[in-house]
Amino acid sequence: MKKLLLVAFSIAITSSLSRSQSPIIQTVIDETNVDSLIFFVEELSGEVQTIIGGSPYTIVSRHKNQPSNDKAADYIKQKLESYGLQAYDQWFSGSGRNVYAVQTGTDFPNQKYIICAHYDDMPSGPTAPGADDNASGTAAVLEAARILSQYLAKYTIIYALWDEEEQGLVGAYYYAQQASSAGDSILGVINMDMIAWDSNSDYIADVHTRPIGSSIYLKDKIIETNNLYSLGLNIDVKNPGSTYSDHAAFWNYNFGAILLIEDGTDFNNYYHTTNDKVQYFNQLYYLMMSKVSIGTFAALAEVTNNVPVELVSFKAFLLKDGIKLEWSTASELNNNGFEIERSLNTWADFVPIGFVEGNGTTTEITNYSYTDPMDFTGVQSIQYRLKQIDLDGSFSYSNIVNVDVNIPNEFVLNQNYPNPFNPTTKISYSIASDAFVSLKVFDFLGKKVTALVNETKLAGTHEIAFDASNLPSGTYFYTLRAGDFISTKKMILIK
Ligand SMILES: [Zn+2]
Repeated sequence: MKKLLLVAFSIAITSSLSRSQSPIIQTVIDETNVDSLIFFVEELSGEVQTIIGGSPYTIVSRHKNQPSNDKAADYIKQKLESYGLQAYDQWFSGSGRNVYAVQTGTDFPNQKYIICAHYDDMPSGPTAPGADDNASGTAAVLEAARILSQYLAKYTIIYALWDEEEQGLVGAYYYAQQASSAGDSILGVINMDMIAWDSNSDYIADVHTRPIGSSIYLKDKIIETNNLYSLGLNIDVKNPGSTYSDHAAFWNYNFGAILLIEDGTDFNNYYHTTNDKVQYFNQLYYLMMSKVSIGTFAALAEVTNNVPVELVSFKAFLLKDGIKLEWSTASELNNNGFEIERSLNTWADFVPIGFVEGNGTTTEITNYSYTDPMDFTGVQSIQYRLKQIDLDGSFSYSNIVNVDVNIPNEFVLNQNYPNPFNPTTKISYSIASDAFVSLKVFDFLGKKVTALVNETKLAGTHEIAFDASNLPSGTYFYTLRAGDFISTKKMILIK
């Protein structure tokens, strides 16, 4: 399978840095996105409803005895498949179910690196959000799949999500035992379990290792990635590391493995309670933890950019009545064209909306565009990606571009800020549809002072500054007219 190259914006920056840095690893790290991570966590922890098997579903618990445990596994499998990966169930009992996906290596298909986390959770009652433990790790594995599935890798990558960790690493033990008896060559395992709690923002991360297989080397690689790409974590090495999470199952069969986990001396207050929620995340810390593990993993698996269609930019622009996509390629080989895919709000569940023919084979720079005549009503954000299809039918996905739309559903004139003011203030307003807008300022006697806006505006929220340097102190009024909507507010200038 062929993959798109994502040059992004990092080339110029990284080329001047240390020789041991890799532009492609930098790109992978840059692509690791906090909105994407948090949305996966919200879906996994029941914070938002998701779509599983075509029907709406809220994952209220992932405890092994709760029905939504299996639904969570369905969600994970569906997500992995949406990235074009082959995903598998591995049943180890009537209800025990690991889910994993395989991305076959180009050079060493029989040598594997595993990035993993457990998806089951606690407590055992009907409600168990398990946001930190361990939707955080699960979402980071899904984020790794979202990003790395766009590349080729020299080594085979396994994205694995274990069940029944909370009952004693049951799922991971089963996988490791099966792999060991099959003689699998597992070069290294990165396990993430609770990676989003940092109540004192000291950015301490614990890495648990032992002198087993490649485990010490894996620990060194994670430190190297943190340093080379200036990710800012303070890594604390635990050797001999603890055996309380799934990596220990791999140690037991002499495979190299490490655990990445939040600081053991700053432990999640809501551990194994119904309050283990995404609202308590330190989002910056969570992003740093995800970047260091995904970046390290990409370096280990030797992600490459040796691809036939070189996409050098992909951008989206908000227009009055739609969204314009523009992209260009530096070169193409056997390019049939691009299918344009769209997602609403979720960064997932992409649906094809159009097709633009490619240029076959060329070494010239080629520019493309496509306009989506989109009605934004009720939509917060829209994501697009390109599915580049070769003449032989093989395909690969671009990175995702996000457009924030967030059209308000009513007309509102907001109070100016600051108020009272001297001599400038800001006035904001929201309009639910495109409209001719006038925003005028009047003095205390009703005499017009100025018109701040007098033109057609796009639906959305707008803000304008008002400078009263040349006006005397006093009470003023401002009036917004937009279509049939009229609203007036008072503001006070004190010099
Ligand atoms: Zn856990």
